[in-house]
Amino acid sequence: MQPETKICQNCKNEFEIISEDFILYEKIGLQAPKVCFECRSKNYFAFWPFGKFRKSKSDLSGDGLITVLPNNPRYPIYKSEEWWSDKWDPIDSGQEYDPSRSFFEQLKELQEKIPRPHQTGESSINCDWCDDIWDSKNCYLSRSLSRCENTNYSYRVLNTKDSFDIVLSFNLQNSYDCLSCHNSYNLNFSESSRDCVDSYFLFDCRNCQNCFMCFNLRNKSYCILNKQYSKEEYFSELKKIKFDSYGYLLSLKEKFVEILKSNAIHKENHNINVLNSKGNYLKDCENCVNVFSWENSQNCRNSLRGLLSKDCIDQLGTWHTEVSGDNSCVTGGYDIKHSSWSDARYSEYLDLCYEVEYCFGCIGLRNKKHCILNKQYTKEEYENLKSKIIENMKSKGEYGDFLPYFMGLCPYNFSTAIIYFPELQKSEIDRLNGYWSSEDLSSSEGDNSMGLPDSIFETNISISDKALICPESHYRFNISKAEYDFHKRKGFALPRLHFDLRVIKKARKASVIKSFLYKCFFCKKDIMAYYPYEWGYKNIACEECYKININ
Ligand SMILES: [Zn+2]
Ligand SMILES: [Zn+2]
Repeated sequence: MQPETKICQNCKNEFEIISEDFILYEKIGLQAPKVCFECRSKNYFAFWPFGKFRKSKSDLSGDGLITVLPNNPRYPIYKSEEWWSDKWDPIDSGQEYDPSRSFFEQLKELQEKIPRPHQTGESSINCDWCDDIWDSKNCYLSRSLSRCENTNYSYRVLNTKDSFDIVLSFNLQNSYDCLSCHNSYNLNFSESSRDCVDSYFLFDCRNCQNCFMCFNLRNKSYCILNKQYSKEEYFSELKKIKFDSYGYLLSLKEKFVEILKSNAIHKENHNINVLNSKGNYLKDCENCVNVFSWENSQNCRNSLRGLLSKDCIDQLGTWHTEVSGDNSCVTGGYDIKHSSWSDARYSEYLDLCYEVEYCFGCIGLRNKKHCILNKQYTKEEYENLKSKIIENMKSKGEYGDFLPYFMGLCPYNFSTAIIYFPELQKSEIDRLNGYWSSEDLSSSEGDNSMGLPDSIFETNISISDKALICPESHYRFNISKAEYDFHKRKGFALPRLHFDLRVIKKARKASVIKSFLYKCFFCKKDIMAYYPYEWGYKNIACEECYKININ
């Protein structure tokens, strides 16, 4: 099929659909999109709450719960265990299809009758103040964790223990303030480093021990600013570093930023073990193009954050999918389209459906077949009504579009889009019939955190009883007892920003989906790299040169 240039119906920019996209659209049975990749992704994010943790009550039992779902939601909220029980039946809310009305309007009415579980995830212990949490224990104020223990204020973390303020990292222990770091112990204030121990402010280091403020190092110990010291010298130098002082720590962070700009070599992307693929933060992928933060997949295109998928296109936050597309937060499926939060086969326009097949326009179903708008049909009735609805939707120009913004799950400014598209404005979301919260969540009942004593050693545990106000978000927060103990033990200054803001700022660094033209620092050839110019990175290397010079 010939590539086609189109005008995005939303942002009015030109976008290209290339032959390989068309092949997948045809294989999956999707129409060519009317809006560009960025606008499609923005639409998917309306279905992925990031939220703000809050206390509420189950609309079924009245039991207390903690959730990231919004205040005054359009739908009931049940405790997860109630949601998964047989105390309610989504079939009771089944609706007759009305051909005179928009299908999406009818689907929205159904959606508003169906409860949603207060928390995503399963098999965790003492992780009430978490969301998207799996097989974890004693974690706090964190999202998207799996197999973690005592991990607090963190996001997108696997297999991590006794760590705070960790983003997009695997297999860390006793670590603090790390982004994209793996297999390390007592690693702190670091980025993109692996197999490191007892170190601080490392960037792109591998197998290093007792290093401070280093970059692009391999297999080293006792280095400071990439300079070799003896063990004794190293420790006597390290003693002079006042990690306990907030002001001093800020100056170290500024120094680190300066090193990233002027000294460190940055590989053009963060991909590991990829073949024939284009994107960023890819691992073990083959033929994946325009895909970001994706793992163990083949032949996927135009997608953000997922894994274990094959022959899929236009997806956000999905895993275990095959021959599927135009989905947001789908947890599994084959031939599933235009859906969110579902695990299904041969189905379209689902939200919150699990283990269903041959369903169309359903919400909250489990183990069903041949349902439309949560009504049960025979196979023949289902096929007939489905064709009728699709014809009708086509005549209204609805068929093939993703679930509309007005079915979104939270105010857009509390969706995960705030990490990827921080510049999005209320006016744009209003125009798309989405939701925006203008509720003022700032607080003045507390002490400005910038007024805390400079050194943690000038404080004591009673500080955890204090209500603090974040100077940037103006949200109220406090230093938890566990957090205080952790910082005291490490001798690190206490944080001043609200925990969500700390996470969001770090996550944004790993969420760039646009590439920029650079010249390779070594061979001078043109390369496209995922570092916005305003970051000021001077030394970007193509993959080949990085391999030769750094690896
Ligand atoms: Zn667009
Ligand atoms: Zn090069």
